[in-house]
Amino acid sequence: MSERILVLLSGGIDSAVALWLVRREIPASKVYTLTIDYHRRSRGEDECAARLAAKAGVSSHLKISLPFLKDLEDQPGEAAVSYRDIGFPPVFIPVRNLVFYSCAAHVAFSINADKIVVGHNGEDAGRFPDVGTDFIKRFNELLRESLPGYKLTLEAPLLSHSKRDVARLALTLGVPLEDTWSCWGPGTIHCGRCEGCQSRRNVFRELGVEDPTTYERINIA
Ligand SMILES: [Zn+2]
Repeated sequence: MSERILVLLSGGIDSAVALWLVRREIPASKVYTLTIDYHRRSRGEDECAARLAAKAGVSSHLKISLPFLKDLEDQPGEAAVSYRDIGFPPVFIPVRNLVFYSCAAHVAFSINADKIVVGHNGEDAGRFPDVGTDFIKRFNELLRESLPGYKLTLEAPLLSHSKRDVARLALTLGVPLEDTWSCWGPGTIHCGRCEGCQSRRNVFRELGVEDPTTYERINIA
């Protein structure tokens, strides 16, 4: 029986590479993609995820929404903590990956999948506390306890790769980079100014390949 694999697909380069890697490494598998929608995502990212899933020929592209993340953020309260103040990046969401991985596990169970694949790279592991080999090992232990008798594991095959290595792998695998998204802005065109866009431009420049992205405006440093 072929493996059933659920790939968490945001629409970014990392998760696209993870999807193409699964396609290459386990060609007989039945692949599903899951996009988790929440208020910090842009429309462009969503559209990229749907296009990537279609081009990869997945069995089904699923999407779930987590509106409570915005509801909670909007609530004024004296206990609100600014994570930026204690050194986390502005895109940090408390226990985000624990929430996302748990949602993915719930979906994986419902479609009878054996494996969840996520696309974090090694640089994410250095920036966020809920990414990394040890975190994933312990999450898998919790999965075994949560679903006794059901075989399900979560894997992050790009954790040993830098951002640049992942982009290089994208070229090797033939990932349609024009259908990936890096901008932190809300629109459907890369803004060209945010950290995500800057990092994307740097990666293409370092690789010496043409950047297929349309940017709204580019800051010339
Ligand atoms: Zn941007």
